[in-house]
Amino acid sequence: MSYVIDWWNISLGKEEQEAVANAIKSRKIAQGSITEEFEEKVAKFLNVPYALAVPNGTQALTLAYMGLGIELGDEIIMPNRTFVATAHAGVILGARIKAIDVKDNQTINEELLETAITCKTKVIVPVHLNGVASNMDRILEIAKKHNIEIVEDACQAFGSKDSKGRNLGSFGRFGCFSLGLAKILTTGQGGIVVMKDKNDYDRLRRIRNQGVFDVRSENSYEIKAYNFKFNDMQASVGLVQLSKIEEKMKASINNYKRYEEKLKGVKILKSNIENGEVPMRVLIFAKDNLALREYLLSKGIKTSLESPSLNHCPHLNIKEEFPVSEVFNNELLILPSGPNLELEKIDIVCNEVNKWVEENA
Ligand SMILES: *Cc1c(COP(=O)(O)O)cnc(C)c1O
Repeated sequence: MSYVIDWWNISLGKEEQEAVANAIKSRKIAQGSITEEFEEKVAKFLNVPYALAVPNGTQALTLAYMGLGIELGDEIIMPNRTFVATAHAGVILGARIKAIDVKDNQTINEELLETAITCKTKVIVPVHLNGVASNMDRILEIAKKHNIEIVEDACQAFGSKDSKGRNLGSFGRFGCFSLGLAKILTTGQGGIVVMKDKNDYDRLRRIRNQGVFDVRSENSYEIKAYNFKFNDMQASVGLVQLSKIEEKMKASINNYKRYEEKLKGVKILKSNIENGEVPMRVLIFAKDNLALREYLLSKGIKTSLESPSLNHCPHLNIKEEFPVSEVFNNELLILPSGPNLELEKIDIVCNEVNKWVEENA
């Protein structure tokens, strides 16, 4: 028997194809009314007043940081365990990244926050990795006490909720999402910033469009800005994807449960699905994750690795050690995941993982 199981399984179908074709036929190509409709529907789904679509999740973060006026020398606090994009989005503005160790659910350890805050700290960025909720009540409390803003990196948490039923990404001054290919809702590339305040919304819309609010008004050109615009072709795909989001969330949860049921003697990175967390991917711990990855590949099963912790990226110049992060850094393996993965394939993967674990324990 020969098969190949991809590590990420998401499909765009006929409806997405037709939506793009219709957008092009009606000359809706650049950012316009379809983008606006997509933004409105995303905001509604996430239960927030405003959403802005941008080219990708990294730029969603940069736009949020710019909205806070982050510039050279400012400090951004974030968990040491995150995709490097969370850091790069601020590095490009000249900010300094301060990393903090995580808890055993891979979210920022809020008890370490206060010692990391300095007079240069402008923002704390909790990251809800794989849909796992950071402790937002406590983080908001600390931020308020020190007069610091919160930008949430919810790039892996679209549709995920905390134990009180609140959408991740909707707590901070800004919440950022990615619509990249390996995310639960995709437009190929894409990103979203959500916010509650009308002034923030107006300012971010301005920054998204070179600072311009009126092309003919000279004082339109007086703030530092950029081109962070989205486009209607991708938004048309986003609308179709959004109409399937409940199914996608259900499928992700079912994948997780299937792995939980079938894996033997393997530790899974936990999600609180009872609380409303949606595990976008299924990750396991394996001391020799690279050997397991190699073995699975020889069986036609593709896996993926998480990116290294921030303190393992030399150019970020983070010198501290992070004992809890280190375990995640060294042992995680992403098993085949995604809303369009068939459960039978998960069974095949579990058989092989179990076999390997038995032989290599
Ligand atoms: C994917 C991701 C990003 C960046 O999103 P892109 O759309 O790839 O730019 C940022 N942070 C986290 C945690 C991510 O998973």
